[in-house]
Amino acid sequence: MASSEIEIVSDSNDQQNSGFRNPNEPAIIDVYSASAYGDFDKLRKFVEVDGVSIYQPDGNGYYALQWAALNNFADIVQYIIEHGGNVHATDNAGQTALHWAAVRGSIAAADVLLQHGARVEAADVNGYRAVHVAAQYGQTAFVNHIVAKYHADLNVPDNDGRSPLHWAAYKGFGDTIRLLLFRDAFQGRQDKDGCTPLHWAVLRGNAEACTLLVHAGTKEELTVKDNAGLTPAELASDKGHRQIAVILSNAQRSQRKQWKDKVCPAIMGRKGYAPILFAVVVVNIILFIISVLFAPGLTKVTAVVALWGWTGVSLAVAALLMLARCSSKDPGYIKTKVAGQPDAQDPLLNIDLNNTSSWTGNWSQLCPTCKIIRPVRSKHCPTCNRCVEQFDHHCPWISNCVGKRNKRDFFIFLCLGSLTSIVGAAVALQRIWTSVPLLAADESWLHHVISAYPAVIAFLFMDGVILIASLTLCIVQISQIARNITTNEMANAVRYGYLRGPDGRFRNPYNHGCRKNCSDFLIHGYTNDDEIAWPPLQHVAR
Ligand SMILES: [Zn+2]
Ligand SMILES: [Zn+2]
Repeated sequence: MASSEIEIVSDSNDQQNSGFRNPNEPAIIDVYSASAYGDFDKLRKFVEVDGVSIYQPDGNGYYALQWAALNNFADIVQYIIEHGGNVHATDNAGQTALHWAAVRGSIAAADVLLQHGARVEAADVNGYRAVHVAAQYGQTAFVNHIVAKYHADLNVPDNDGRSPLHWAAYKGFGDTIRLLLFRDAFQGRQDKDGCTPLHWAVLRGNAEACTLLVHAGTKEELTVKDNAGLTPAELASDKGHRQIAVILSNAQRSQRKQWKDKVCPAIMGRKGYAPILFAVVVVNIILFIISVLFAPGLTKVTAVVALWGWTGVSLAVAALLMLARCSSKDPGYIKTKVAGQPDAQDPLLNIDLNNTSSWTGNWSQLCPTCKIIRPVRSKHCPTCNRCVEQFDHHCPWISNCVGKRNKRDFFIFLCLGSLTSIVGAAVALQRIWTSVPLLAADESWLHHVISAYPAVIAFLFMDGVILIASLTLCIVQISQIARNITTNEMANAVRYGYLRGPDGRFRNPYNHGCRKNCSDFLIHGYTNDDEIAWPPLQHVAR
């Protein structure tokens, strides 16, 4: 679609790249190459000894100031400005040195330019401001810097009506999208083709961008039609992006459901299946007491069997109490305001953005929906619509998230569920085994049991289903607790930079060894990894 329009910036970038073909021997032949390669001594010689002009463009119309800005040589930018370089000078595409700084996210150079009067809103022939260019190249820290410090307008449209969010969505830069949404970029803007940023994310088939936009948006964007009359979901089908079409259709469906819930609050809505699970367990307990322990057709209960039977019932009641506790307890929702931050202060302003190492890969800690900087292991749950600390998964059977504050309860619930089912099944089988009389030769044991004790069989069936489900989950949880990793981290490990070592392979920094992981979990319910979890936030607070 419009990708060719940003080639203007790419051209200059490519030229620069070609200049770096042999980094050991850069050809410093004039003020332009000296500025591009950061050779201050040669630049000074050209200007002060040879008397070369530093404010004239080269043969292609590019300025030395642009080359220095592109490669973030702030001292050279300063020198050029002091020797007559014009911060407002534009090349043939109408781009200033600030546009070039945006290409590579050269923050230090941009600071010098802006402090010497460069206009942050200067537009090139396409109407691109520096903020558009930075969004096109995924320079998230640069966007943040010029918006926070120089009040660049992050909703400004280019000549075709496209905002930086359109470009970030089209290019699929998840971090840039997250930052723009975090800063309340307008999602509903339609360009000259009637396309919203969501349409643009769909065009390129960027699933992550679509998911981010849908979760953080008002959901109204889902129904906006472009000039061709297509909604984003229809456009996705049209372009053959099936996965995205499914994501968007599901989002639309759940949106419709929410409208229905408002009209008819009696509908289950977000209650999930917890009430159903609760009812199933209660029915099973009653079935167990009536048709297993005290069924008239079975033999009299011995004291030992009765003891086991009532133990099973007690365990089941305890499991029910635990279910109620898990589903009602706060799983570790993160407060929507950063503690100690006054409202007026921009929480991202004080981050030392030149120190990119502290932020590399950490933009995912911004939640564009809750508007918070969240700790590393947390995740936004779209069902609860909150960020949850040490997010494990959203469990529809407890109608709640499983996170830092209720994971131990959830684990105890699973253990109780497994134990109850085992005891219940053992007692039921013992009761049948001792009650079946001598059978006629033509009657099979199984046939007799099914016809004589249908209620016991029904109990065993439900008990078996619960046993398989709870035991499987229990084993999975034990293996994860032993390694101190969450279900979410297991499923999405490739997406989390903190789960990768310097060699790029999987590495879990929270794994303190099986014994400590387990003891921390059993004693506290979680492991405290504040130092690893909150580094950028501490950085902000300083
Ligand atoms: Zn959130
Ligand atoms: Zn949830």
